[in-house]
Amino acid sequence: MRKPFVNRFTYSHSSWKLYSQCPRAWWWAKVGSWFGWPNHGRPAKDPERALAYMLSKMETIPQTSGKILHEIAAELVAEGSMPAKGVLARRYEVRMLGAYAEALTGAYQADPKHKINLFEVYYGLPNPRDRLGQTISEGRVAAENLRSSRSIARARRHQVLAAERLEEFNIGNVPVFCKTDLATKDPVTGLIYLTDYKTSANNSPRRESEDREQLAFYGRAATLIYGVPAQQVRLTLSMLHSGTEDTWASSDEEVAGVERLVLRRAATIRSQLQDQTRNAAPRIRFPETSNPKICGSCVFYHACKGRRRLGE
Ligand code: SF4
Repeated sequence: MRKPFVNRFTYSHSSWKLYSQCPRAWWWAKVGSWFGWPNHGRPAKDPERALAYMLSKMETIPQTSGKILHEIAAELVAEGSMPAKGVLARRYEVRMLGAYAEALTGAYQADPKHKINLFEVYYGLPNPRDRLGQTISEGRVAAENLRSSRSIARARRHQVLAAERLEEFNIGNVPVFCKTDLATKDPVTGLIYLTDYKTSANNSPRRESEDREQLAFYGRAATLIYGVPAQQVRLTLSMLHSGTEDTWASSDEEVAGVERLVLRRAATIRSQLQDQTRNAAPRIRFPETSNPKICGSCVFYHACKGRRRLGE
């Protein structure tokens, strides 16, 4: 017998980031879009849920670029050999142009999960081609930097445990998801290296501290998934735009700190749900942000504010 399909609460670093920017956006992503996916090619019965689901799959041009760079990194690990100079940049550019062309067709309306819908195109932002061109020229450099990346070199020497894999585990009573960019094990020392690729050219101190917090979270994941102490885990931030990497050791204190943080954050969100077992709540329980700048870059703008033009 098939298990009943129930919306359940799960925590991830990205879902917390969404919630902390705007609780209502979290509601659209996790509650308001539930059951909004097409069924056997037919649109969902509830048009609001269908719209929210379609919007939840939308990406910005930089997000698409990041996704493609992550795919290429995982392919490099699987292929085991290094392509000639320029091949990765071309592979990246072809996919970016393909994604943009696909977004222009509007195919995402019928198949939001598999067809690209770009925020800049959907909401009619000025000069999306210029944004695309700028992103591609930066992304080409990032793709080529993978050739000399220490983490890819490590993957050649180490046992590869995971590449671009979605992991699920529990912290206390909280089901947690995280996507591992690359996890390898040194056959000599037994150390586990977790690499997180950063594909944005923006390396502000705030962003760096968020990245480090995210890596600490992955460190906790590694101790649970691979059953090793924190001292056996090495965390690597790989900045693809600059081609630099920073590696440090996880620790018991860091792991305990992350665990407390996740439990506290999950409790904050859960306390606003009406039915915690079904992840259900009326939208009013999740307030809108008062910061119009956040609305201006929110994929749920159409569902939340009606079909207005962005910024109206
Ligand atoms: S449009 Fe604004 S208020 Fe509505 S979900 Fe997005 S960020 Fe929140």
